Amino acid sequence: MTDLHFLGGCKTIGSSAYLVEENDTSILCDFGASFNGNPTFPQLSRPANLLVALSHAHLDHSGGLPLLFASGSAPVYMTAITRDLIKLLLKDMIRLSHYFLPFEKEELDRLIRRIQIVNYREPIELKDDVTVTFHDAGHIPGSAAIQVETPRRDILYTGDINTIDTQMLKAARIPKNTIDTLILESTYALTAHDERKMIEEHFINTAEEIIDSGGTVLVPAFAVARAQEILCILTKYRVNFPIFMDGMARDAAQVFLRYPEFFQNFKLLKRALANAQWVRSRRQREGITKNPGLVVAPAGMLKGGNAARYLGEIMHDSRNGVLLVGFQIPGTPGRNLLENGSYDDGSGLKRVKARFQLFDFSSHAGQDQLLELGSSFPNLERLYTVHGEAEACEFLAKTLHKQNGINAHAAETGECFELPNIG
Ligand SMILES: [Zn+2]
Repeated sequence: MTDLHFLGGCKTIGSSAYLVEENDTSILCDFGASFNGNPTFPQLSRPANLLVALSHAHLDHSGGLPLLFASGSAPVYMTAITRDLIKLLLKDMIRLSHYFLPFEKEELDRLIRRIQIVNYREPIELKDDVTVTFHDAGHIPGSAAIQVETPRRDILYTGDINTIDTQMLKAARIPKNTIDTLILESTYALTAHDERKMIEEHFINTAEEIIDSGGTVLVPAFAVARAQEILCILTKYRVNFPIFMDGMARDAAQVFLRYPEFFQNFKLLKRALANAQWVRSRRQREGITKNPGLVVAPAGMLKGGNAARYLGEIMHDSRNGVLLVGFQIPGTPGRNLLENGSYDDGSGLKRVKARFQLFDFSSHAGQDQLLELGSSFPNLERLYTVHGEAEACEFLAKTLHKQNGINAHAAETGECFELPNIG
């Protein structure tokens, strides 16, 4: 029997963790953190012969990994660029922890020592006739969908997946024909994305308009991938205003430059990173919002980081603009800004006079792509939706069941399914 355990990341975004067990072999796909208040982590009673496969660097997938090294050890497989990115992100998480974390740098160091690098489409052979293969998921550089083949089942966990090309990355390339069990992310199951080119043009026009009228544009963006994608777009459209990049987006960019093989247009990326002025000092930072220009800085949902500092500086002037470029989780300052037009700059909630707008530069498949993707496996027998708000996971499971007649279920944290032999 192959068992599938849903340990986290069900009907929510955060704490992704899914465990496949075949006899004595256990493969843990992701072990992420949730950040609503103090970080929380999935529960795992550690099985023997544990092996971890990490889909990508984002902390909702990787943030719990050091915890596995508090009282044990296991090999952790990931792509090379993911290794460098989690070093950055996990170090930063520990450094910024004003809260209790159940691990420290020591556990992170032990994790790093057990990392095994894998390439896309190169199977890892394990005990009990189990194979694990990583496939390009198109979500961020190095992101993977993880295929686990047991003698009984052929399971694909999509991780976070994008099925369209962006400026930086090619669309996902995953196996379809043999897969009988799919664990499918649902982030945008309720939202169809507009056409990418249209969003890019709208974004460029808005930024130009604000800068032409003497304002500063703040683009709060995730440090890993979104910030650099925005720089690629600005470069592709040959804008001629000053562009600045601040915070961890700089460090992630340095990692990107070491791995050309993960990008579809590395030349554009290199040009984009060279076009931007990398903010390195406090003095440089203090001058930026005094002149028209655009600054890209984390955090993407305005939860701290340099983006929060810049917003404090520009929010009171209607010539300025805040262009949000990613998903805003309910309860975050970014979401509050969109819904209520207000922001707490540290001295209480205030109305934001600067213009603000959301541009849907998602690195996740949208509704149409998810429905298409979920229907594109000719031998699919079971489908579990995860990684989305409850409504999104349920909608996706229900719709794919109706469309294809397959057994589809919005998984709950704590559920475990025995997958019988196929055929
Ligand atoms: Zn992600």
